[in-house]
Amino acid sequence: MSSDAPVVSFTVDLEPDCPPFLRGFRGVEHGLPALLDLLGESGVPATFFTTGDVARRYPRAVERVVSEGHELACHGMTHTAFTSLGRAEAEAEIVESVAILRRFGPVTSFRAPYLRFPEAYVDLLERSGFERDSSQAKYKAAYYRKRRPSTLRRIPASVTSSVLRLPSPIRRAYLAAVSSPVVLFVHPWEFVDLRKEKLRWDCRFKTGDVALTCVKSMLDGYADQGATFVRMREMV
Ligand SMILES: [Zn+2]
Repeated sequence: MSSDAPVVSFTVDLEPDCPPFLRGFRGVEHGLPALLDLLGESGVPATFFTTGDVARRYPRAVERVVSEGHELACHGMTHTAFTSLGRAEAEAEIVESVAILRRFGPVTSFRAPYLRFPEAYVDLLERSGFERDSSQAKYKAAYYRKRRPSTLRRIPASVTSSVLRLPSPIRRAYLAAVSSPVVLFVHPWEFVDLRKEKLRWDCRFKTGDVALTCVKSMLDGYADQGATFVRMREMV
């Protein structure tokens, strides 16, 4: 392995289908098992930012995530944007989701829905025992604004999820420009065919089995570079 081999954290937002545009859980029911199979075959440990609502509806799915060695993490309770919530509502979302998710094991990493979390609420995450927050993205302006000092480690996403479904030469060019540590993210609903849904193009193009093939080729590409795949809690 060369010394400049990247560290890669593959993350999954385990949530309802393409919020807020669709309703349903085809991603959890059909996309997730296929993704877990792929991660198992590739030997890639991942981090699953899961809503409390999904964990309550699909406990067997969450048990599989945990039993296969992945990190279980928190993605709020109902996939409501925290920027639309008052402080008491935000606190209720966090407390309720944590109570459900921690029945399955330790949960110390957090990512807000839509990658939007008010700085004024960061203390709520600290008080709920979180150690890491991945609610920022390097491709969003908010990441570069001043942040409140916090005990949380901020670990931004590197690229938006639809990049992974771009044609491979374009995807490779994109990812070549991303510095280590690389934080990738996908959603289980991307592995369900949504091409005929009335959705924004970036939500639906190349969804379904072809998206799985894209993820496989990307993970293989990183493996060829000697990448180390880590769960978010292992990032240093
Ligand atoms: Zn989400």
